[in-house]
Parts: sequence; structure tokens; C-alpha cells
Amino acid sequence: MPVKGAEIGVIGGGAAGLGVAWQLAARGYTVLLLEAREPGSGAMTASGGMLSPAYEAEYEEIPLLRAFLHSRRLYPAWAEALGDIGYTACGTYELALTPEDVPYVKRRWEFERAQGLEVEWLEGAALRRHLSNVSPRIPAGTYAPDEGQVVPELLRDRLVEAIQRHRGTILSHTPVQHISYASQAFHLHTPHQTYTVETLIVCPGVPLEGLRLPFKVYPIRGQMIAVESPHPNWLSAPVRYFNKMTGYGYTIPKGSYLILGGTAEEKGYDPSLTVGGVLDILRRAYYVFPDLYEQRILRFWAGLRPATADRRPVFWKVSGLPLYYINGLYRNGILLLPLVAEGVAAWVSEGIVHPLLAPFTREVEETGLALSPAPPAP
Ligand SMILES: Cc1cc2nc3c(=O)[nH]c(=O)nc-3n(C[C@H](O)[C@H](O)[C@H](O)COP(=O)(O)OP(=O)(O)OC[C@H]3O[C@@H](n4cnc5c(N)ncnc54)[C@H](O)[C@@H]3O)c2cc1C
Repeated sequence: MPVKGAEIGVIGGGAAGLGVAWQLAARGYTVLLLEAREPGSGAMTASGGMLSPAYEAEYEEIPLLRAFLHSRRLYPAWAEALGDIGYTACGTYELALTPEDVPYVKRRWEFERAQGLEVEWLEGAALRRHLSNVSPRIPAGTYAPDEGQVVPELLRDRLVEAIQRHRGTILSHTPVQHISYASQAFHLHTPHQTYTVETLIVCPGVPLEGLRLPFKVYPIRGQMIAVESPHPNWLSAPVRYFNKMTGYGYTIPKGSYLILGGTAEEKGYDPSLTVGGVLDILRRAYYVFPDLYEQRILRFWAGLRPATADRRPVFWKVSGLPLYYINGLYRNGILLLPLVAEGVAAWVSEGIVHPLLAPFTREVEETGLALSPAPPAP
């Protein structure tokens, strides 16, 4: 029998939607998650799965750094509860590509240490002891041993299973095009059916199918390439590299293959791969790891990171209504997933705002933008 309603509705089956749906279903609510395509098909499975607080925080973003660190610490318990999500506490490296880049990487290292993070400075023989495959051209870098990674596809699969174990319902290929509010319930209009829920959590990342939000989401494209690894233990941890002229890149070991990324381009909704993007990724990776020259390319893809104008996350509740917007997870939605999921579930069920999410949380009046009148019945 088709499901038509639930206590809690979630729009979007990406990192935020799957995590929040699991946490609320586990608290005993009936949960209905509507996904425009397939779960995880947005930014989630396009991502590299790095859990890298030290290298993600910008100098002015101390509240975000605290949120990153707390969320990363939740991952071992999440891996325990969910099963195999490919979680490894392998650390992360950051390398300076040229001698001119060393002061930048050093400044960042000093900032990280000032924040109490454990990060090691590496150069010369020490660097090569850690990373024997790195080109002799690489002058220096750092190692943050507390960081780690997951495999986003496994995380997606385990979250889907966990939601279903708690009797939550996930409907794929069910885009929400419009939301209306009447008789103390939200009505979610999809091409074939309307679903009714009491509480609504809207987390579509970059919204599809014309779904309107009361703030602007900027899609930031990231291009990625999977190449065969020379052997499964060829690289022990994600390696990020920085160059003043060409920006950032990274190589992430995933067992039999490596993921090379990643560009950050503001090109609207266009998820295309480009010659320039692919060239930049390969050129940087080859500069760091010359042995990759002979490796087979397995796959290319691109994803759209959901960013806000100021690149901070959005946790909005509409005043007087059980309506929540979770967005702007930008380039850290996998890292932030446990904190977001647990924090939003406590907020929705108990009205408690997690102190680490408080700097990004707002109660807003802007109902009209999302809750325009329902379209006339066909
Ligand atoms: C190339 C790349 C690399 C990345 N690397 C990392 C990394 O290493 N570490 C990290 O922490 N983060 C990383 N990220 C960022 C991370 O993937 C995102 O921050 C995270 O996925 C955002 O979660 P979300 O749920 O907000 O959006 P998404 O994961 O995009 O999920 C949104 C979902 O909503 C659905 N949807 C949209 N509109 C509708 C609608 N109208 N109706 C129903 N459903 C709808 C979409 O189909 C999608 O499945 C990366 C992202 C990219 C693109």
C-alpha cells in the first residue's frame, strides 16, 4: 500500500537527509524521506569522504572548526552502530608543492597547533619515511594523525538500511516540487502524488525540480577522477597538496583505487567535466606522485557542493511552525554528518539546539518563500 503521510517528512536523501531521518526514526517517529533521484546521488557519493577538520577550517572559522572536531570524534561510534562504512582513522597529510608554498603550509600548521590540534611538521627524510611514493621535488608538509575517512557509498548504504530497520520509508524518484501548509500539516507535492507530514525537514542540498528555498544555494562544482592504485597499500592516508598558482588538490586511497580531486568552481547547475578541470587534477597529482603516470583511469565524475553566500551552514527553523531547513554543508557535509544528524534530531524532538550548531542556527520568519499557495488540482 502506498505511503501517503508520516509524523516527520524529510526532503532530500543526501548526507543531511539520510542522517537526520535515521536519528529520528531511531527515536520512534514515523519518517518519510522523499528523494528526487536515488539516495546519495547528490553531492554525497560524489565526495571523497575525507574527515579532515584541521585542513578544512579557515583561519576565521573557529566555531566551524569546533563543530568539525566534535563531529569527527563521533565517527567511531557511528561506525560501530551502522556497520561497515569504510571508516579508517588513518590521518591526513598536507603538502607544499614548491618551496614558495612552504610558508603557507607552515602558517596553517602554526594555526592548527594554536587551536590545540595534533599536527606534525614533516620535511626531508621524515616526510619520505611517511610517504615513500612522493616525488623528491616535494619540500615539506604536515600530518594530522587524528583525521580519517569513510567510503561515501558504504555510508549511504548503511544509513538506508538503518532507516529501513527503524521502519522509516524512503521513496526514490519522488521529487518535491512544491510545499504547501494547511490544516496544521505540510503537503509535499510531487509529480504523481501529494504526501502529508506534521513536521518537515528540508535538506535538498542544491535543490532540484524548481523547489524554492528561503535562501540562495550556490552550487560549487567539484570534478573527480578514480585511477587504479599501483597496489592496495600504496598510500596510507589522504594527501592534500597546495600550490599558490594552481590551488588545492588531493589524492585519497580507497583500497584498489585512488580518488584524485578536486576542483571548486562556481558554474551554476552545470555538472559537466571539463578539459581544464581534469587537466588541473591530473597535473597536480602527477607532480606529487610521478608513479601514477602508467595507472589506468577508471572513472570521472563531478558533483555540486551546496554552499551559501558566506559559505557557512544553514540551520533555520521557521518561527511558529515545525519547519526546518538544513543546508550549506558545502565541502564538509560528510565530516559534519554525525553532528548534524544528532543535533537536528535533538532540536526537532526536544527543542534543544546543540551548542556547536548554535552559531549557525536561526529562527526565521520567511515562511512565504517556501510556502506559496498550492497549485490548482489537475
Ligand atoms: C567533489 C566533492 C568532494 C567532496 N568531498 C568531501 C569530503 O571529502 N569530505 C566531506 O566532508 N565532504 C565532502 N564533500 C561535500 C559533501 O558531499 C556535501 O557537503 C554533502 O553531501 C551535502 O549534503 P546534503 O545532504 O546537504 O546534500 P546532498 O548530499 O547533495 O543531498 C541532497 C539530496 O537531495 C535531493 N534533492 C534535491 N532536490 C530535491 C527535491 N526537490 N525533492 C527531493 N529530493 C531532492 C538530491 O537528489 C540529493 O540526493 C564533497 C562534495 C563534492 C561535490
